[in-house]
Amino acid sequence: MTAINTGAAGRVLIVEDEAPLARVVASYLERESFEVEIVGNGIDAIERARETAPTLIVLDLGLPGVDGVEVCRTVRTFSDCYIIMLTARAEEVDKLVGLSVGADDYLTKPFSPRELVARVRAMLRRPRAVPGGAREQPRTARFGPLAIDFDGREVHLHDELVDLTRTEFDVLAALAEHPHRAFSRHQLITRVWGAGWVGDEHLVDVHIGKVRRKLDDDPASPMFVRTVRGVGYRMGPGE
Ligand code: CA
Repeated sequence: MTAINTGAAGRVLIVEDEAPLARVVASYLERESFEVEIVGNGIDAIERARETAPTLIVLDLGLPGVDGVEVCRTVRTFSDCYIIMLTARAEEVDKLVGLSVGADDYLTKPFSPRELVARVRAMLRRPRAVPGGAREQPRTARFGPLAIDFDGREVHLHDELVDLTRTEFDVLAALAEHPHRAFSRHQLITRVWGAGWVGDEHLVDVHIGKVRRKLDDDPASPMFVRTVRGVGYRMGPGE
């Protein structure tokens, strides 16, 4: 494990109006050496996210006043921290995924705090830029007008910076590092979310969809991210 610049594993903001649940989640994350803060409504969540720049936000969907979707959207205008959303019903996940609110992961209540911790660990294990470029991966890749800087974690299209979230970058980078290889959703999940991730693999499609929109890439005749029928995705233009 790497990361850690504060002595703790990072800061977590828990946004949950059910105080007992918030406290249980907090105690599990504190055991993982996170610095934890709990808030019970959306307004406070946005304010604290701005002020404390958390590493991760555990965000309940059903909040009094400003709901989780709105909190997520607002936080995304100024932060690319990890966001796990908690929902009361499984169907809500589909709805949220459809809305593309910008969360990195979703958990349906009731969930075991251990599962939450496993998801958090998997998220934080995702590849980061390594100073000095000690990793054995290409530093940059170019696909026509698209340039990917793996170490700097930047993507340019026609020389303009594309604003991708961490997850979107990681999905694109996973494909671009092996441009001749087709990846299944499961393989992408393992590379991006980590082997411990458990959930609906169609989460990959959501992030691919967002990357495509930001790259102005038409799925029907893609320039960059191509659907491989019955498999998943690979880098490169369609036939
Ligand atoms: Ca709630």
